[in-house]
Amino acid sequence: MDARIEASPGVEAGSSGAGALDEAAGIRARILDKLTYSVGKDPLAASARDWFVATALTVRDKMVERWIAGVNETKRTGRKRVYYLSLEFLIGRLLLDALTNMEMVEPTRAALAGLGVDLEDLRDVEPDAALGNGGLGRLAACFMESMATLSIAAYGYGIRYDHGLFRQRIKNGRQQEYPEDWLSFGNPWEFQRPEIYYEIGFGGRIEAEHRQDGTLKHTWRPAETVEALAYDTPIPGWRGRQINTLRLWSARSPDPLRLDKFNSGDHFGALMDQVRAESISKVLYPSDSTPAGEELRLRQEYFFASASLQDLVNRHLRQNGDLHSLPDKVAIQLNDTHPAIAITELMRILVDWRNLGWAEAWNITRATFSYTNHTLLPEALETWPVPLMERLLPRHMQIIYLINAIHLDQSSKLPGSTGERLAAISLIEEGHGRRVRMGHLAFLGSHKINGVSKLHTDLMKETVFRELDLVLPGKITNKTNGITFRRWLKEANPGLTALLMEVAGDRLLDDPMLLEKVAHVAGDASFQERYAAIRLVNKAALAKLVRRQLGIDIDPGALFDVQIKRIHEYKRQILNLLETIAVYDAIRAEPMRDWIPRVKIFAGKAAASYTTAKLTIQLANDVARIVNSDPTVRDLLKVVFLPNYNVSLAEKIIPAADLSEQISTAGMEASGTGNMKFALNGALTIGTLDGANVEIRDRVGAENIFIFGLTADEVEARRRHQGIDGREAIARSPKLAEVLEAVASGVFSPEEPDRYRGLADALTHHDYFMVTADFESYFETQRAVFRRWRDKPAWWRSAALNTANMGWFSSDRTIAEYAQDIWNVPVRQPGNG
Ligand SMILES: *Cc1c(COP(=O)(O)O)cnc(C)c1O
Repeated sequence: MDARIEASPGVEAGSSGAGALDEAAGIRARILDKLTYSVGKDPLAASARDWFVATALTVRDKMVERWIAGVNETKRTGRKRVYYLSLEFLIGRLLLDALTNMEMVEPTRAALAGLGVDLEDLRDVEPDAALGNGGLGRLAACFMESMATLSIAAYGYGIRYDHGLFRQRIKNGRQQEYPEDWLSFGNPWEFQRPEIYYEIGFGGRIEAEHRQDGTLKHTWRPAETVEALAYDTPIPGWRGRQINTLRLWSARSPDPLRLDKFNSGDHFGALMDQVRAESISKVLYPSDSTPAGEELRLRQEYFFASASLQDLVNRHLRQNGDLHSLPDKVAIQLNDTHPAIAITELMRILVDWRNLGWAEAWNITRATFSYTNHTLLPEALETWPVPLMERLLPRHMQIIYLINAIHLDQSSKLPGSTGERLAAISLIEEGHGRRVRMGHLAFLGSHKINGVSKLHTDLMKETVFRELDLVLPGKITNKTNGITFRRWLKEANPGLTALLMEVAGDRLLDDPMLLEKVAHVAGDASFQERYAAIRLVNKAALAKLVRRQLGIDIDPGALFDVQIKRIHEYKRQILNLLETIAVYDAIRAEPMRDWIPRVKIFAGKAAASYTTAKLTIQLANDVARIVNSDPTVRDLLKVVFLPNYNVSLAEKIIPAADLSEQISTAGMEASGTGNMKFALNGALTIGTLDGANVEIRDRVGAENIFIFGLTADEVEARRRHQGIDGREAIARSPKLAEVLEAVASGVFSPEEPDRYRGLADALTHHDYFMVTADFESYFETQRAVFRRWRDKPAWWRSAALNTANMGWFSSDRTIAEYAQDIWNVPVRQPGNG
């Protein structure tokens, strides 16, 4: 019997028939082997965690064979490698992801079932690898998967933080941060590489001596060194054809124990160096869209940039013997400015270590690097004080000065050059204390600079890099973000994936544009019925989770209206809460009208130091408490705030969402990727014309998305001409006035009536994020959502058309564009050979 013919949709080939039985039996034997000899347990005593480790090690073995073969093949063919440098990788769990990509889910499920173990139970014991804050880190994780899927020889480089993003708990409605401990039970996915480590210097002084040819040779004598130790995690692409490496650096002291001190009785002092060195990779900075600004952060940046550069230069030299060919064999992508110091590190290696001339080194550097910008928020653009740089990285500061001097000299000779323009393009920001502009450094040191959505790239040219783009034109390009459909469709929503494969064929994940076939059946009653039934199952599962976590009952039949993302003023969770309160007021005024039952679902973390964001979380929880306990409201409105938003929680919420809230102030969200996950899974979007929402509208059709509010141009014009006072907008909207009055007077905080007075005052007088200006438009658009919801065939048609038209937002498409336009490396589409 041919095991491949009868495979049902959504279930990989090989999962039925005799071949599949053999496969399951083989996996079962290997899992038992791992449990016994690697975990050291017998099946009767094994916990879910033990089974998880045994299963993870089994699939890891499977990956290792192809991983090594791939590394050898890249060496043999000498093909170009891509290095993705990112201070964040928001990976989430890997068990189902690795099994999916290795096409082992069903035989492994069967193997475990034979051992009396449920694969679904094992999934939940794996801790999330939360080495990132939000969208930027998640993008890096999606890109790693897509680079492997497209058979690009890629390495991810980052930091192996002992503690990832903090664990959030809500106590009395307020966020509390607890340390996250993903490594406490070991990490079965990684390989420590004790033989791969590099010395990273800090501080000290520069020695200069004349070379034979009269030029100066600089030697940096650091005052302090730390070692960067490599840990490798294999990252499989779709169908396991290529396995790439995520190499994360851990910091350690070169001499962990000062025995002289220990022996003299100073036990604490003996360990000081170690503590100081290891603090570098101790914890992820929990800031998002705001700079960390501390010395330790700069140490983290240089630590991982230097280790990564030394590593890739070594690899290149071993194979090619010479660094002139670096741009032909290596592309380095900087994920935001966090690794931008790598540009000066490469210059130091080329000039100080390898004795190349400056101009030659600069050409090599620029041809090798490219940079992705992720934000236009002025407060989030990274700058470092010159005195700090001079103290911590004295040689790099010299290099920055020299790059800048040449850059300013060349620019001053261009027609139309003015002192003002030179000040704008300088690497050094003068003013209140001189600072190094890392975005400018990344721009100068790269051959391509990309934004992450069309609108964001256009705005980049008009704002942060306006003058640099005039002086060095043609470098800016757009690469609209994407998401991996393996995780965000197949793994998160297997029910929907099976249905879609029936329509679009089982090559759907090889070619996501096949989703367009779904458009042909979007209006079919029978298709809609199945589509809606899958959603209902997902909503019932989420309702169960809400009940278990919060003790709140929500009705799976209600409209699930979801906003999950980092809490930030520009993302405007407040706008959503104000509409919630307005509807609450309306229900209380007319309890017997035919309201549409709706559940408002929120989740997200606030940076611990971001007061307004933390107050927003408290308001959401206070509103939830008052609304959910009001008997007149009954089941017409529920508000829930699910704690500890992370990748795994997103995977559970998104397939259950009916409405996706993407309501940032236009011009402020660079792209968003949450918006893509929702639309792919068939939630309708209510959103502003911001980031990738614009391109989502272009693809799903304006009639299948709910757009409201000011455009980016209008926001800019309004701030300029009318300012940011909200009083006029409030005066025009009695509803809004009533809502703000309720918030200000303590209706939602009776135990502390003034809790939100400051927040309401700020919206009234300093509404930089245009909440009041957009309120009426948002409120009315929510009513249009209600009208569509009442018309079920229209709703489900729109939902199916969202899914059908989201194929373009696969990160495989994004990565193919980077490969072609920026990295100059070939790609191999999955499913082709
Ligand atoms: C996708 C994702 C994000 C990014 O969401 P946005 O809505 O684009 O800000 C942040 N955190 C997690 C856990 C995600 O999965």
